[in-house]
Amino acid sequence: MKIRWLGAAGEVGRSCVEVNIDGRIFILDCGVKISGDGTYPDFSDVNISAIEAVIISHAHLDHCGYAPYLYSVGYNGPIYFTRPTLDLALLIQKDYIKVQELQGEKPPYYQEDIRKELNHAVTLNYEEKIYINGDISLTFYDAGHILGAAQICLDTPYGRLLYTGDIGSDVKTMNPVKKGIPSVDFLILESTYGMKNDIHPPTKEREKELIQIIKETKKKKGNVLIPVFALGRGQDIMMILKEAKEKGLISQPIYVEGMLLRANDIYDNYPDWLNKSMFNLFKHESPFNSPMFREVWNRKKIIQSSEPIIVVTTAGMMSGGPVIDYFKHWAPNKNNSLILVGYQVEDTFGRQILDGLREFKDEEGDMKKINCRVEWVEFSAHSDHSQLVDYVSSLDEPPKKVFLNHGDPKKLDELWGSIDKITECIVADPLVYYQLDGVLEAEIESKKVIYEELPPLESPFEVIFTTPQDKIIKDRSINLIVKSQNELLIAGYLDDSIVSFIVDVAKKGTKVKAIFRHITRPGNKKAFKILKSGGVEARVNRECHARFIVSDDREAMVSSADLTRDSFYDHFEAGIVTSDKKTINKLRDFFYKMWDQSIEGYIKN
Ligand SMILES: [Zn+2]
Ligand SMILES: [Zn+2]
Repeated sequence: MKIRWLGAAGEVGRSCVEVNIDGRIFILDCGVKISGDGTYPDFSDVNISAIEAVIISHAHLDHCGYAPYLYSVGYNGPIYFTRPTLDLALLIQKDYIKVQELQGEKPPYYQEDIRKELNHAVTLNYEEKIYINGDISLTFYDAGHILGAAQICLDTPYGRLLYTGDIGSDVKTMNPVKKGIPSVDFLILESTYGMKNDIHPPTKEREKELIQIIKETKKKKGNVLIPVFALGRGQDIMMILKEAKEKGLISQPIYVEGMLLRANDIYDNYPDWLNKSMFNLFKHESPFNSPMFREVWNRKKIIQSSEPIIVVTTAGMMSGGPVIDYFKHWAPNKNNSLILVGYQVEDTFGRQILDGLREFKDEEGDMKKINCRVEWVEFSAHSDHSQLVDYVSSLDEPPKKVFLNHGDPKKLDELWGSIDKITECIVADPLVYYQLDGVLEAEIESKKVIYEELPPLESPFEVIFTTPQDKIIKDRSINLIVKSQNELLIAGYLDDSIVSFIVDVAKKGTKVKAIFRHITRPGNKKAFKILKSGGVEARVNRECHARFIVSDDREAMVSSADLTRDSFYDHFEAGIVTSDKKTINKLRDFFYKMWDQSIEGYIKN
């Protein structure tokens, strides 16, 4: 097993690690860098056709922003996310290319590539182990960072590799990071706050500080502007303000605007992925859509508001977005306050203001004075130095090697000093291909999956996307399964719940043929037996990216989401239902072609 960094070695941004297991390539994260040198991970030297899977830790741009690029250069395999991460990543990626096009730049990929990505998406829950390629399995663990954020754990014949992605601690809306993952051989650790003096004061203290500034600003009849990141920090700040308002500590109207609103809609869909106290709030109303938060319809009017107000909006480092519009009007007035709440990367406008900038040119070319109060109350979604050290110490046995990435050089060096006392520690170098411990090559060879040499099948259809959670699609897809009387053809990533669903259908006398995309999940040997004993014919085909159902010759459905029972009942994403005979026949032909190329039973050892 070899690993190397295509990005995020010695820097924050464009996270991307290539894991090479005997020529099979796995990509962990595929992000972009917002400022400084080098925007994208370096794929110039990577054999795209050898990529077996892409795995995304979370939806921040520096971890997922470049993933669709791979589909634009011919990658045709699966991409793994948690389900909330998939939703958030699609939002962030679409916005990323939209902004680039608005700025007259050429985006690295197009809508079409995002669509391909969605077609190949496989979503998992935390701690759900799945075999993604022969003898290699993947498990996501809670990273405690933002909604859906995961640590990526790969079990390989060479040992267990754990990639932390970004790990948080003490994040307002999230559960704490999962620590103490057993038997880690190789650890890749983030280092954003790796310096010894990177100490996050307790959240409660920072909350008090924030509320105090808001109160003082109100006394002076000034407005408060809080720039936030749309994912994570925005929701955390909203919840702090909500609490303070309910306790009567603050009274100003709160306005929210920008991408934050769309991210909130996704947070709304996943209350059970947030921490317990957040989950409980949902029992009454969605906390993010509380009437307490007013949506901005007319920004001009809000800017001129006669009463003091609070505005929470993007972008978090003031690199653009609605925040700029508010700032240019409010900055000259000394009674107003700007409160920065997140990390401000070097060279960003937010950082310049923190560093003492007192004048700037707005987009019309007018000079504007910065007389307003400027404060920095940082609410970090990352672990600080001692929490990172504690994270490594929490492992039952020290890993053989710890690699540090996702940090500025100084931070990496200082963290190295602390971790190297625990076990061998390496600051990742972008130019080195690290060779990790080996097992006999021959042993790996014998485990190769047999359908490797088969030619890829051309899919006969284009998937059409509807809006998320389209109720009509959902209802019709349920109908489709329930209605099928004589024959049901089903293909895709079939999890345990859909398996029991299929068996139910078969028991009613329906003939079912099922093609599994993955058969190597731990429960699937059993599931296979259940299917067989339930009279279902089942096969496995790793090339089976499409998810679809054909119900006799009356109706068929192609879906972009996983065919899980949950998908049908709760989060059905998108798809088409068709009763067009020609399309149904095409789908059926495709199904049988794939059927012929599939293997029966479990992967041959
Ligand atoms: Zn992050
Ligand atoms: Zn990051």
